[in-house]
Amino acid sequence: MVLIEAVRGDITEQQVDAVVNAANSSLLGGGGVDGAIHRKGGPAILSECRDLRAAHYDKGLPTGKAVATTAGQLPARWVIHTVGPVWSATEDRSALLASCYRESLRVAAELGARTVAFPAISTGIFGWPIDDGARIAVETVRSVDPPLEYVRFVLFDDGALNAFAAALE
Ligand code: ADP
Repeated sequence: MVLIEAVRGDITEQQVDAVVNAANSSLLGGGGVDGAIHRKGGPAILSECRDLRAAHYDKGLPTGKAVATTAGQLPARWVIHTVGPVWSATEDRSALLASCYRESLRVAAELGARTVAFPAISTGIFGWPIDDGARIAVETVRSVDPPLEYVRFVLFDDGALNAFAAALE
């Protein structure tokens, strides 16, 4: 069984094999986690993202999918970019959010990563309520039980950390 922890911190500072980016479908950068990863990781990440777009995703990376690039100057070895769903009060998009975690874990295992750090996907600019986002994240990682040693959820504030701690209980 994979070890799962939640910590307060900055995703760009995690010393793990792979960090997950809450990307947008353009793969060309954005705000929040995405902006921080490109700012600190340097231009090598954006350059690989451009290549991926040109080669495989001319319309952008679909919601719920994941792809990997170098981590540039980050302490991690890889960045796994996944596109979360925008929260909707009228449509249940939970399966897409679960897919982000599942697909990112699949890509991580394919790469040979042993340790992976996730932000709370979709809970920032995309508006997903943090308690529900935490529940889906934890349930999905547990149900996949990926062939990894360690999954870390990295939360930016106490509210998010508390939500993940409760989901892990
Ligand atoms: P999305 O567009 O998927 O909602 P965001 O990047 O806007 O993604 O936010 C996702 C979550 O990550 C939010 O809870 C936000 O507070 C948090 N966050 C923002 N910057 C960082 C960071 N540098 N490290 C970890 N978490 C972050």
